[in-house]
Amino acid sequence: MTRIALYPGSFDPVTNGHMDILRQSLALADKVVVAIGIHPGKKPLFSLEERQNLIHASARAEFTREEAARIDVISFSNLVIKTAREQGATCLVRGLRDGTDLDYEMQMAGMNGTLEPNIKTVFLPASPTVRHITATLVRQIAKMGGEISEFVPEPVVSPLRRVTSPQS
Ligand code: ADP
Repeated sequence: MTRIALYPGSFDPVTNGHMDILRQSLALADKVVVAIGIHPGKKPLFSLEERQNLIHASARAEFTREEAARIDVISFSNLVIKTAREQGATCLVRGLRDGTDLDYEMQMAGMNGTLEPNIKTVFLPASPTVRHITATLVRQIAKMGGEISEFVPEPVVSPLRRVTSPQS
């Protein structure tokens, strides 16, 4: 049986924190489906296609060829749990940075577990070196001209500088 994990989020853009959770997920599942949520009211920094390309490029840069081949990237606009079911996933992966993440994630896991008892939420703890990273702060730092190369995979550095430069 192929064990499939769904890893949902905004990934605007993918950060070293996301890559850490993705790396841990690859050790647990045969295939990891990274699911980019589309929120109609929100204007992302990167288009869906750019976010997809950056995740694939980062996976190729940081993982082995075999590991990168086990990652799929999709988008979704309906319920996470419905998307997980459609993808044949048996677990939903979420990264935990701190107690604030935990409180919110416990609620989500409870609701999703009620909607679909067969799909289990799996919490993965952020590695100490990346637990402070949030995509929101990375975007803010980039917009103010700060150095972001410590927070995102190498393939994200130039595109992030480009889209946040004052001329763009
Ligand atoms: P963010 O919360 O940074 O805007 P997302 O909404 O895309 O990012 O988050 C998707 C998932 O990735 C969530 O489960 C979130 O907890 C996890 N995640 C994001 N950043 C980190 C990090 N630095 N360490 C561990 N997990 C993280």
